[in-house]
Amino acid sequence: MFSEIERKLSQGQRLNKEDALYLFNLDDIHKIGKLADEFCRKINSNRAYFIINRHINPTNICINRCRFCAFSRSKGEEGSYEMTIDEILAGLREACKNMGYLSEVHIVSALHPDWPFEYYLEMIKNIKSEFPNIGIKAFTAVEIDYFAKKSNLRVEDILNRLKENGLDIIPGGGAEIFNSEVRNILCPEKISGERWLEIIKLAHKVGIKTNATMLYGHIESYEDRVDHLLKLRDLQDETGGFLAFIPLSYQPENTDIKVSYPSGIDDLKTIAVSRLILDNIPHIKAYWIMLGEKLAQLALLFGADCIEGTVIEEKIAHSAGARSKISTTVEELIHLIKETDKVPAERDSFYNILRIY
Ligand code: SF4
Repeated sequence: MFSEIERKLSQGQRLNKEDALYLFNLDDIHKIGKLADEFCRKINSNRAYFIINRHINPTNICINRCRFCAFSRSKGEEGSYEMTIDEILAGLREACKNMGYLSEVHIVSALHPDWPFEYYLEMIKNIKSEFPNIGIKAFTAVEIDYFAKKSNLRVEDILNRLKENGLDIIPGGGAEIFNSEVRNILCPEKISGERWLEIIKLAHKVGIKTNATMLYGHIESYEDRVDHLLKLRDLQDETGGFLAFIPLSYQPENTDIKVSYPSGIDDLKTIAVSRLILDNIPHIKAYWIMLGEKLAQLALLFGADCIEGTVIEEKIAHSAGARSKISTTVEELIHLIKETDKVPAERDSFYNILRIY
């Protein structure tokens, strides 16, 4: 079976569900990693991308309270917070001062019960006006759906208004795992996998590029992972709107889903199989915040070509026990990449190369 998979890849043929399941069940991680690394180099040469970015989570007050989420709080609960637009702008000014400049702000929020859609429009409008050169990657499909429901507007109208006010791309969060039975245990209040795909498809249709994610290592099976990957591949065939896929390694602390952290072997295997199955998505990101810096570095030799960025302040994964730092520096990212013998490529939100190191 393995030699058949090698043959398919060498002849430019697509892997199917059985191939993906076989690879997930294979113990020889080196063989899978080597295949994924070769495949990755065909797409991205020996470059490994990073970005100078800052994460901002404007509020953690959420009506959903997903069972796997340790970040959210109810209104009035201890630890809940709300950021004003001035505070967000101040955070960006500080980051620009410390880093020299920022290429991207990544904004993901909880579903606040009271904030109107106009608040989010004002937020990105103000950011774009003061920082026209910073790419705004903001609002998951879950948030977009919520804005539409709250404001009684069509999703297309929400997307167009966000775009007109400065939104550049949409992050891949909220996909979790598409299987409805698993999803109903993890996050019963959240939009379905079908709805997530529908909203992302609409975003691609109105010309907004997005990322995609998959939360793995909790209660899902390998079949669920493969099904998730194939649904993303199908949508990418149709729209071509995905820039990057980011497998998110489950962080279980302070959540209602009590399992162990995924193992390093599982993390690397998931990166590698994702690279091999998602042959039409250009970039696979090793999200160092959840993998840890050292495993993210290794993932660059197992099919990943991007290691995220400086981040500056990470709250979501660290609420759930992420063991990485909350921020890193350009120097550290370059060092991690260079040690893999890949070439560090600083990028913007759209993966245009800004500088090669
Ligand atoms: S995962 Fe998102 S939607 Fe779910 S509770 Fe956390 S912040 Fe709210």
